[in-house]
Amino acid sequence: MLEFFKKKQVSPSKTEADKRIKDFQEIYNNYSTKDSIDQASRCSQCGIPFCQIHCPLNNNIPDWLKYIAEDRLEEAYEISSSTNAFPEVCGRVCPQDRLCEGNCVVEKAGFGSITIGSLEKYITETAWDNGWINPIKSEKKQNQKVAIIGSGPAGLAAATYLLEYGYEVEVFEKSDRIGGLLIYGIPNFKLDKSLVIRRTDWLKESGVKFNVNCEIGKDITFKKLENTFDAILIATGVYKARSLDVVTENIHNSIPALDYLIESNKLGLGDRASENKYLNAKDKRVIVIGGGDTAMDCVRTAVRQQASEVICLYRRNKENMPGSAREVANAEQEGVNFKWLSVPSKIIQEKNIATGLTYKVAKLGEVDDSGRRSPVDTGIEKSLKSNLIIEALGFQPENINEKFKTHLDLTGWDTIKVDFNRFQTSNPKVFAAGDIVRGASLVVWAIHDGREAAKKIKNFLSSNNIKKAS
Ligand SMILES: Cc1cc2nc3c(=O)[nH]c(=O)nc-3n(C[C@H](O)[C@H](O)[C@H](O)COP(=O)(O)OP(=O)(O)OC[C@H]3O[C@@H](n4cnc5c(N)ncnc54)[C@H](O)[C@@H]3O)c2cc1C
Ligand code: SF4
Repeated sequence: MLEFFKKKQVSPSKTEADKRIKDFQEIYNNYSTKDSIDQASRCSQCGIPFCQIHCPLNNNIPDWLKYIAEDRLEEAYEISSSTNAFPEVCGRVCPQDRLCEGNCVVEKAGFGSITIGSLEKYITETAWDNGWINPIKSEKKQNQKVAIIGSGPAGLAAATYLLEYGYEVEVFEKSDRIGGLLIYGIPNFKLDKSLVIRRTDWLKESGVKFNVNCEIGKDITFKKLENTFDAILIATGVYKARSLDVVTENIHNSIPALDYLIESNKLGLGDRASENKYLNAKDKRVIVIGGGDTAMDCVRTAVRQQASEVICLYRRNKENMPGSAREVANAEQEGVNFKWLSVPSKIIQEKNIATGLTYKVAKLGEVDDSGRRSPVDTGIEKSLKSNLIIEALGFQPENINEKFKTHLDLTGWDTIKVDFNRFQTSNPKVFAAGDIVRGASLVVWAIHDGREAAKKIKNFLSSNNIKKAS
């Protein structure tokens, strides 16, 4: 260990931009055994591991790095998977620069962080290849059943732990595929869909019962779940798209980001193209509005669909973008044209079809509630031509009480109010986890919440005064 003095930080190789924009394959390759040992041995094994403190799952990173450095990968996997239900997913999609790696002491000392995410991916892929990941064996059968609404990372992580504790677990998913935003939001070039399917197949084999095309509040009432299950976890995510200040209603070629990404992911999974021709960017001049990870996924998808031009319009500057710096750099390499400090002011349209938009040039003002400097109008207005506008401005929750005909306490943002120590809602039998509790967040936080909610459900169900469901 402590090799960071001698060995440079080396990330796994990445497919060159001109090659990778020709398909939707993942762009990062895996480490070789030698590279993984070299990179793990750079860890300084510090007494207070800031990487671990800043990992939402509190992963025991220094220990598994030491095992990799000693080529003891099965033990490394044991430790890494003891806190993380889906380490192969986090290794790929966590914004490590803001979490574990950004707080690595070796990084702070100016030597370049330990490449924690790529090593986590390496351990887990090795575990799959070597057959170390077997179906879950329950501690002991509990004879109680839990319903999980939503099959995103929060729901799937909770299912994993509840099954381990011995509960019967049934997942209800309104979409036709399992995985939530892992399958239909995040593009294949960041997270190959075969990995999501591999995990969900593993959960099926372990005994989780999945009901797809089954929307709670429509196909089955929430009341029915309450009467049939001993506990319920709501993990429905947030899907109501935030709208632009300028009017885009009835403009056919101004579309929400998620509609666009879902269509692209469905095509990649072999489904037929939808009849809406505006859900594909081929040969179009595309403007994506927004500066978060969803906007980066849209611009990079549009490049791969052979758009004639892809522009990203963002109201602050690069340093104040909410998205991961790594993804912005990838987008720039792939030819996306960024227009910073640009605030859309009007859609130019003919017969409900946008032909472009005007935008106001901004400058940076004071720091706002988000902790970033806010844009201030300079009075200069410009215009751009476009025949496809993608709105990527973030997501809000639907009002769950209207949907489920319940009376759960909500926050002022319409997220479900829970006691964060218990993930329990104002109805003691009902728990909630993931984006529906936090607002739009990260996969790793959804996995954390699913893990913690499962523990609290176990505590709840094992207390003596619980009446068994019929
Ligand atoms: C385009 C995009 C890219 C992203 N990229 C990243 C990234 O790179 N890294 C990262 O860490 N995070 C990323 N995120 C955020 C991350 O995907 C989410 O924080 C995470 O998926 C939230 O997990 P969840 O389980 O709470 O909800 P979701 O993943 O949204 O899953 C909720 C599930 O519930 C289902 N559902 C909803 N209502 C019902 C109902 N009434 N009945 C039955 N089922 C229902 C939905 O269909 C869905 O499958 C991204 C998000 C988006 C939109
Ligand atoms: S789960 Fe995410 S934050 Fe935690 S160690 Fe892995 S990559 Fe880093």
